[in-house]
Amino acid sequence: MKPLEDIAYDGIGLFRTEFVFGRFSRYPTFEEQYEAYSEVVKKAEGRPVIIRTLDIGGDKDLAYFELPKEENPFLGYRAVRVCLDREQIFLDQLMAILAAGACGKAKIMFPMITEMSEFVACKRLVAKAKNLLQDRKIPFDEDIHIGIMVETPASAVLADRFATVCDFVSIGTNDLTQYVTCTDRANPNIQKLYNPYNPAVIRLIGNTIRSARQAGIEAGVCGELAGELNFIPLLVGFGVNKLSMSPALIEKVRYLVCRLNQREMSRLSDQVLNIDDPYEIESLVTSVSERALAI
Ligand code: PEP
Ligand code: MG
Repeated sequence: MKPLEDIAYDGIGLFRTEFVFGRFSRYPTFEEQYEAYSEVVKKAEGRPVIIRTLDIGGDKDLAYFELPKEENPFLGYRAVRVCLDREQIFLDQLMAILAAGACGKAKIMFPMITEMSEFVACKRLVAKAKNLLQDRKIPFDEDIHIGIMVETPASAVLADRFATVCDFVSIGTNDLTQYVTCTDRANPNIQKLYNPYNPAVIRLIGNTIRSARQAGIEAGVCGELAGELNFIPLLVGFGVNKLSMSPALIEKVRYLVCRLNQREMSRLSDQVLNIDDPYEIESLVTSVSERALAI
C-alpha cells in the first residue's frame, strides 16, 4: 500500500480514538491524548481530520473500563452512553481534541447518538471543555465543527432535526445496516440479511444525505459502503459530499466518482427507492458502476 503522503486525499473522515485508548492499560491523560491527536492533525497539513469520540463497548472492549458483561452488547452500554456517564474522562478527550484543533483542522464527531438530548449533553460538555482550556490558557479551536455519526435508525429517521443543530453528519453504514436489518454484523449465520441493499437501509441513507444537503451542512459516509464501488452511484445520486475509506481504495473510488453524472445518478437513486428486492437493486447499481468503470 502507498504511504498516505503519496495519495491525493482531502482529509481524514474517521479517526477512531479507540486505538489511542487501546495503547494504554489505564485511562490516557489529556496530555497523552493531545499528543496523539495533534500528531495526526499536524500530518494532515490543514486538511480536516474528523475525530470520533470514544466508541467503547459493543465489539470494542478495554479491560480498564470495567464494562459490565451484557447479553446484547451492540444494544447496550457503548459509545456516548458510557462517555456521558464518565464526565471527567469525556472532558479530557474533548479538551485534547479541541487543543489539537489549534494545530490544524480537527472536527469532533459523536458516535451512537439516538436522541437529541444526548447530542445536547455532548455539546454542553464541549462548552465546558472550552472553558477549562481557557482557564488553563491552552490554545484551542474556538470554532471547531461538531457533528454526529448517523449510525442508529433513530438518528437517520431524525436526520432533518439533527441537521439543524450539527455542523456536519457522517453516516456509519456498518452499524446502520446492522441496526436497520436487525442483523449482528459479526454473526456469520445471518450475513445474508446484513445487506446494505435492503431498501430500508437505502431510504435512511438517502433521507440523511438529503436532509443534510437541505440544511446546508456536509453529508459524509464513513462506513465500509463509502469504498464499495457498486454502492457509490447511489451515494452520488443522493448528493453525498464526502466519502471516507481506507487509503488503498481512494484512487479507484475517485476514478469512479469522476465518471458518474450527478443528474443521472439522482434519477437512479429515485428509481431505486421504488424497488423492493435488494438483489434487483444491487444488480442495477452494479451494472451502472461497472459501465462507468469500463469507460
Ligand atoms: C460504522 O458503524 O459504520 C463505523 C464506521 O463505525 P465502526 O465500524 O467503528 O463501528
Ligand atoms: Mg459504528
